[in-house]
Amino acid sequence: MPRIKRHCNFCGREEAPGLLLLSGLDGYICSECVAQASRVLEEMAESERKKKAQELKQSELPKPRQIKEFLDQYVIGQDEAKRYLSVSVYNHYKRLMQVDNGDNVEIEKSNIIMVGATGTGKTLLARTIAKMLKVPFTIVDATVLTEAGYVGEDIESILTRLLQVADYDVKAAERGIVFIDEIDKIARKGDTPSITRDVSGEGVQQGLLKLLEGSVVLVPPQGGRKHPEQKMIPVNTQNILFICGGAFDGIERKIAQRLNTHVVGYGNVENAFRLDKNNMMQYIAPQDLKSYGLIPEIIGRMPVLTYLEPLSRDALRSILTEPKNAIIKQYVKLFEMDGVKLTFDPAVFDFIIDKAVEYRLGARGLRSIVETIMMDAMYEIPSTRKKTFNVTLDYATAQLDKSNLNRLKAE
Ligand code: ADP
Repeated sequence: MPRIKRHCNFCGREEAPGLLLLSGLDGYICSECVAQASRVLEEMAESERKKKAQELKQSELPKPRQIKEFLDQYVIGQDEAKRYLSVSVYNHYKRLMQVDNGDNVEIEKSNIIMVGATGTGKTLLARTIAKMLKVPFTIVDATVLTEAGYVGEDIESILTRLLQVADYDVKAAERGIVFIDEIDKIARKGDTPSITRDVSGEGVQQGLLKLLEGSVVLVPPQGGRKHPEQKMIPVNTQNILFICGGAFDGIERKIAQRLNTHVVGYGNVENAFRLDKNNMMQYIAPQDLKSYGLIPEIIGRMPVLTYLEPLSRDALRSILTEPKNAIIKQYVKLFEMDGVKLTFDPAVFDFIIDKAVEYRLGARGLRSIVETIMMDAMYEIPSTRKKTFNVTLDYATAQLDKSNLNRLKAE
C-alpha cells in the first residue's frame, strides 16, 4: 500500500526534502510556516518597541529650561549659548515627533553654529546636550575633510563615526547629533588673515551642504576614503542635528567693519569697539560669517547662530572647582580612592589661573597645569601611609617650575 505523504496543516505543502514537518497533537506544521510565523511575531514586537520608544520620548523630552539647568551643572557661564542651544535642541526633537495632521506646516530643521575662542566650552556644550538626550553623538574635525580627489577624508566619513557610536543602528544614528569642530578652517580663501585651510575650502563646504540640508547619503561603514569593494550604508541626514563650532579668529574685525558700514575710516572702527570692546562677539550676525568666507548656502543651513564669551578669571576659577566633574573634584576623587584626603590652599587656584592666562591656554590649559602640579604626588603617595595631602602655593610653584613649561605653552 503506498504510504500517504504527510502535509503541513497550515499551508498544505507536502513533506519533501528540505521541508521539515514538525508534529503537533493532531497535525503538522512545516519549517516554512514556522519561519514565516516567527517573522510576523518579530515584526509585531519591533513595531511595538518603536511605538513605546516614541511614546517614551514624547513624555521624556526635557523642556528648554530643564536642558539649560542640566547644562549649568557642567558648563560655567555662556548663558546666551545655553539658551539658544536649549531652544533649538528642544525644537529639533519636537520636530522629530510632529504628527502630520494635514495642515502642511512643516517645522524646518535648525542646525546650530557656535562661534567663540578655543577652550570656551563649545564642544563641552554639544557633548553635554547629547549626554542628556542619550542620543548617539560624535565630534568631527572639519580640517580633515576634503572633497573627493584630495588626500584626506570624504565628507561622508562624518557619518561613519556616528554609525560607529550607534553600533551601526542606522535608525538611532539618524536621530543623533554631530558636532563639527573648526568649521572656520574650511572658510573660502578671502582677505582673512591667519587661516590654515586646504585647497578645497569651498568644495568641502559644498559637500557639507548636502549633509546639513538633509538627504540620503551613502556612508562607508569603515570610514576613510571610498573604495569600490566597500558596501555603503544609506543614511538619511534629515533628522540628524548638526552643531558646528569655530573660533573664527579675527572675526571681531569683520563685525566692527559691518557696524561701521556707512562710515569708512579707522577712527570710526575704533568707535564701534567702544560698543563693548571686550566682547564684540555678541554682535555677530550671519553676514559676518559670509565675510569670513563661509558660503551663503552653508550659512542658510545653520539658522541658529550663537556665540561664546571669552572666559574671565572668575569663570576659570569656577571651572576649576564647581562643575559636577570639575578638574579639582576629579583629583580629590583619585586620591580618595587611595584613602588620601586631598586639599588645596586657595592661593593655588589663583596661581593655576594665572598660569592658564599667561600661557593663553584658557580652560583647556587648566587640566594640564593641574596634572603637572600633581604628577609627583600621584606617583609617590599610593606607596606611602599618608592619609592627607595638602597642596601649598610653594609646592605648586616648585612643581610647575621644574616641569617643562614650554611643553604646556606649545599645546
Ligand atoms: P572648545 O570646543 O570651545 O574649544 P572645549 O569645550 O573643548 O572648548 O573646552 C575644553 C575644556 O575646557 C573642556 O573639556 C572643559 O574641561 C573646559 N571648559 C571650557 N569651557 C568651559 C566652561 N564654560 N565651563 C566648564 N568647563 C569648560
